[in-house]
Amino acid sequence: MSYMADATEWCVLLRVPSLWRVLVPAVESDSDAWLVSDEKKNTVFSGLMGDGASVITHHRTLYKVHQRVVTKYNHGRVILAGDAAHLNNPLGGFGMNSGIHDVWNLTDKLCAILQDGADPAPLLDRYDRQRRTVMQEFVQAQSIRNKQDLEIGDDESRRRRQENLEVLMTNDEKRRAYLLTQSMVSSRVREAEIA
Ligand SMILES: Cc1cc2nc3c(=O)[nH]c(=O)nc-3n(C[C@H](O)[C@H](O)[C@H](O)COP(=O)(O)OP(=O)(O)OC[C@H]3O[C@@H](n4cnc5c(N)ncnc54)[C@H](O)[C@@H]3O)c2cc1C
Repeated sequence: MSYMADATEWCVLLRVPSLWRVLVPAVESDSDAWLVSDEKKNTVFSGLMGDGASVITHHRTLYKVHQRVVTKYNHGRVILAGDAAHLNNPLGGFGMNSGIHDVWNLTDKLCAILQDGADPAPLLDRYDRQRRTVMQEFVQAQSIRNKQDLEIGDDESRRRRQENLEVLMTNDEKRRAYLLTQSMVSSRVREAEIA
């Protein structure tokens, strides 16, 4: 993922095997029709590469950004996981991954309950404590930081962020810690610590 920023706008350029995904912010007052129009597409790509009209897009869509975690993951026989339990800014790619982590955590507990006859309440309460804690401490916090990083407007803050990234390039220990966090491995370690 790479970022482009100027004083007024940022965008995310994400290269996937067959195409580029381009994410641009929208203001609330813009109509949906304008946001997915050819005119808007041409404006966005002209800003990026000069001739926006020559760019072919295969799909244009809108989404709203939420930052939410439920107050409890388990309610009697109803157990929440994935987007039903938490929503966050897609920047960072944590949404689906954290849903998979929910279910990975939950299946061990469901096996203990359904196959081995364990008492459900303490296990499901532990599921709630573990997953809700890491969602709040890690996923929500990190996705907010990722968004703030993109919105950096002044030169001084941008220079500091660039310096921090350069430190990661040269410092093995810091880079390892950063990658463990971004790949969500640290969040799995953290949840295992929660009784
Ligand atoms: C633009 C964008 C980019 C993203 N990029 C990434 C990324 O790079 N990496 C990442 O990890 N995550 C990413 N995400 C987040 C990811 O898409 C979601 O976190 C993930 O799809 C959530 O999966 P889910 O199964 O929990 O919920 P959903 O995908 O919402 O699935 C819920 C399903 O339940 C069905 N349903 C709803 N109500 C009922 C009902 N009453 N009865 C039966 N079925 C019902 C719905 O139709 C739907 O099929 C992105 C999200 C967006 C918006």
